Amino acid sequence: MESRNVRFFNYTTIMKKITQIVIIMLILNGIVSCESTEQQTDKSEGSSTKEPSEIDIYDNWDPKLTEVWEPEPAIITPGSRTAAPSDAIVLFDGKDMSSWVSTKDGTPAKWKVEDGAMTMVKDVGDIRTRESFGDCQLHIEWRTPSVVKGNSQGRGNSGVFLQSTYEVQVLDSYDNRTYSNGQAASIYKQSMPLVNVCRPPGEWQTYDIIYRAPRFKNNGELDQPAFITVIQNGVLVQNHTQIRGHTPYIGLPEYKAHGDLPLKLQDHGNPLSFRNIWIRKL
Ligand code: MG
Repeated sequence: MESRNVRFFNYTTIMKKITQIVIIMLILNGIVSCESTEQQTDKSEGSSTKEPSEIDIYDNWDPKLTEVWEPEPAIITPGSRTAAPSDAIVLFDGKDMSSWVSTKDGTPAKWKVEDGAMTMVKDVGDIRTRESFGDCQLHIEWRTPSVVKGNSQGRGNSGVFLQSTYEVQVLDSYDNRTYSNGQAASIYKQSMPLVNVCRPPGEWQTYDIIYRAPRFKNNGELDQPAFITVIQNGVLVQNHTQIRGHTPYIGLPEYKAHGDLPLKLQDHGNPLSFRNIWIRKL
């Protein structure tokens, strides 16, 4: 028994030694390779010597082969600061709410238009755009009430619903703790924002959203999920976040096949205001 243990000990000791030697050889080989590469580089500096691969593949190439001229990106005129660029669909310009209807019954939206903003009216409910959208770039400005009432989810709550289904939370998250994946700029109950860059209540804030709609197969199954990037007040808060499905208050996200759908704004019972809303179809 004892001699077997001794033999086993010897065998493992030998294997360890062999492994150590192999590792040392590999390291030395690496160092030698690096040195020889450095030496080659040193030698080639100042000379026109090229790597064999460059000579074989690219020596006779015309640089034009890697230039793309067509199609040319459309030339558009940028808006000043946060104003709509020339190819955007203006959804609210400070005066005209005709692009919006009540989600409940499709009648014209009855929010109050005042001082260049549209403000929720109690019990009117959610509103949505007349037009439907898929992939898009959206700019929207929002303001929570300057008179602070309530806390957590009850303070300055609204929401920007892409395709009426996927909520980017709007909330007064200035000194107002709530669950992280439900604060302003969260993908509601899915993804908390990278930072909290909220301004105080009563101040205007911006969302710039780049959204890629989900793709569905003919049989209704999900083919590719939606992705969203959100910039709040000029700061990245959602970085190409994958959306896992709809954004319910209770339960888990799910996808149900759909095509283009309207943009929806949530009435959560708090009198929020919105202004300068424009969208670019992508
Ligand atoms: Mg909300």
